[in-house]
Amino acid sequence: MADVIIVGGGLAGLFNALLLNRAGMQVTLIEKKVYPFHRVCGEYISNEVLPFFDQLGIDVAPLQVSRINRLEVTAASGAKFSHPLDLGGFGLSRYTFDHYMYQKASAEGVRFLLDTQVEDIRFHNNSFEVITNHETLTAPLVIGAFGKRSNLDRKLNRAFFYRRSPYVGIKVHAKINFPDDLIQLNNYKDGYCGVIKVEADRYCMCSLAHRDDLRKYGSLEALQENIICQNPYQKELFDHAELLMDKPEVINEISFEKKQPVENHILMSGDTAGMIAPLCGNGMTMAIHSAKILSETIRQYYRPNRPFPVQQRAALEQAYRQAWNQQFARRLWVGRQLQHLFGSNRMIDWAIRSLNYAPLLSQLVMERTHGKPFNLKPSAFSPFVSPK
Ligand SMILES: Cc1cc2nc3c(=O)[nH]c(=O)nc-3n(C[C@H](O)[C@H](O)[C@H](O)COP(=O)(O)OP(=O)(O)OC[C@H]3O[C@@H](n4cnc5c(N)ncnc54)[C@H](O)[C@@H]3O)c2cc1C
Repeated sequence: MADVIIVGGGLAGLFNALLLNRAGMQVTLIEKKVYPFHRVCGEYISNEVLPFFDQLGIDVAPLQVSRINRLEVTAASGAKFSHPLDLGGFGLSRYTFDHYMYQKASAEGVRFLLDTQVEDIRFHNNSFEVITNHETLTAPLVIGAFGKRSNLDRKLNRAFFYRRSPYVGIKVHAKINFPDDLIQLNNYKDGYCGVIKVEADRYCMCSLAHRDDLRKYGSLEALQENIICQNPYQKELFDHAELLMDKPEVINEISFEKKQPVENHILMSGDTAGMIAPLCGNGMTMAIHSAKILSETIRQYYRPNRPFPVQQRAALEQAYRQAWNQQFARRLWVGRQLQHLFGSNRMIDWAIRSLNYAPLLSQLVMERTHGKPFNLKPSAFSPFVSPK
């Protein structure tokens, strides 16, 4: 029997797996797909994560990441705001990054069940049953890292699942003529497209759009032509792009609604606990940071091969809830407000003009949506850093 079953193998699941395995726990991670695979994601990672990566011995440089230190925000009117990124970040595809983390965690002893979908998670007698399409597993702890929206949200009757979201996400990789050190956020009606260089000669263009526009125009090509290419910078890029994927990666119902970090005793991590609006470019960092906080909290309250009484579980849940809210609740709220602003061509034009007159405002927005570089607590340090 595993000490912990992690459901979902995105960055939240993979980092929880790596950390808890290093803390001496038996970890099973269940992922419905098989690595490597593409995901809808803008693929910009804030440098907030770098001190933590150093501690864990994760070196992304050999993966040929791009180093990003400039931001441009553009409007359909042609208005543009440019700003250096003090902390900056890097570009790396999820295809490469998630696969790298999977290989690392697997080599260190995490048990992976791939191509396996979890159908239900039940809690009774202070223990979990995890029901997959192949078998039923049991464990004292379950981490929910199944992303923004999953079959399990319906099964667990989570409130946000029933509030429909109009957002659609579309990602392509392409070869384009674009600076290596820039992240550009090109706005159009009801959405935006983030553009960035990832590894090697690939560029990621990841768009958020409104379901009604997709319905109105009937196809992704027509949506691109009529809505996304309203922005002249994005039109120029698409007009000269050499696509590197057979077809775009697409997801719908992207919701920024409030969620809970603990539900039915399942400890939620990453987007499963709450998703920040993509324009903040910070969801992956938050997924990784939430895995750090959760692993540290589990390690504090749970010891393998020792009894895990109900009161101990309640204390763990309460400590995690509190730590999660303290770190992320405000950022998510600011992200939701910004998401409302980005959508109207007129509002974004006004916002860009305001930012050009008051560049300190952009600093403030960055501060409110990003955290600070983070690393492991000294008390948690040794068991997490040394691979077995
Ligand atoms: C349009 C868009 C652009 C974005 N751009 C950026 C950006 O530039 N920078 C950034 O930092 N963030 C960005 N984000 C956010 C970022 O992608 C997410 O915050 C991040 O992927 C969260 O990681 P996660 O591990 O929580 O979830 P995910 O990466 O979604 O992983 C969840 C995993 O769970 C698996 N799963 C789901 N259900 C089951 C089940 N029942 N059984 C088994 N497995 C299951 C899925 O297959 C998936 O692999 C963007 C998001 C969107 C939508």
